[in-house]
Amino acid sequence: MTDPVRSIVHRFPGVPTLEGAGVRLRRSFSNNEVPLFDPFLLLDRFGSSNPEDYLAGFPWHPHRGIETVTYVLDGEVAHGDTLGNSGVIRAGDVQWMNSGSGIIHQEMPQRTDRSLSGFQLWVNLPAREKMSVPAYRGLTAHDIPEVTTDTGDRVKIVAGSYGSVEGPVRGIPVDPTYLDVRVPPGGTFVQPTPPGFTVFAHTVDGSGTFEGHDRGPIAPGETVLFGAGDEVRLHASEAGARFLLVSGRPLHEPVAWYGPIVMNRRDELLQAMRELEHGDFLKHPRPIIEE
Ligand code: MN
Repeated sequence: MTDPVRSIVHRFPGVPTLEGAGVRLRRSFSNNEVPLFDPFLLLDRFGSSNPEDYLAGFPWHPHRGIETVTYVLDGEVAHGDTLGNSGVIRAGDVQWMNSGSGIIHQEMPQRTDRSLSGFQLWVNLPAREKMSVPAYRGLTAHDIPEVTTDTGDRVKIVAGSYGSVEGPVRGIPVDPTYLDVRVPPGGTFVQPTPPGFTVFAHTVDGSGTFEGHDRGPIAPGETVLFGAGDEVRLHASEAGARFLLVSGRPLHEPVAWYGPIVMNRRDELLQAMRELEHGDFLKHPRPIIEE
């Protein structure tokens, strides 16, 4: 029998990391944490008021075997792939990209009159989907429903559901929930979570306390991983709290990871490297585009 409320079992302050061609970001978790966050692989928080910290961007690189979820809170990130797909992810927009068998793309934060701020989450694909047809889902801020409760909580639903409201991203193998939650000063937020799912939260700003055995307040930039239970319950501080709440069904499959490619076995990684070298990495010339 488990506690009804999920307690925090691990805390991650985030590690300053230089990524891409020289982008300063904070990495919440990555390959060192496998399999703690299964089915999630990586969470990066990028952003700065200084364009020098991000303009170098993430030039041409491949992905295979994962989904990358880019959520821009402020500023702009332009993206394009070698097949000619391109666009701009703007404030409040989400790009949920399934690399499947392979894409080669670039992601380039743009100079605007605003600070840059956003997240990239990597979601693992089950073995049976790793070589699937790549797919783009481009969601604008307008596509993402926001619920305001009678106690003043504001919840944006990217995937999964909050109450009776379902997010626009559906049909993802690990059945994820991705919420952006704002709780007013002194407010309480409760979300039921499916049994057996991995659940974590990342504090965007403000602070609060999750109910459970570990009741230390959460700090901005901190990522917390929850243990077993039926729900998470947050009491916001007098500053209020904004956090991402993410859950998904673990895959329980072996992970073989090299840079932007995540497969199940080492020989699959070696094959991907050979294909990149020989120019036959891309298996599907036309990705699925869902706007
Ligand atoms: Mn990428």
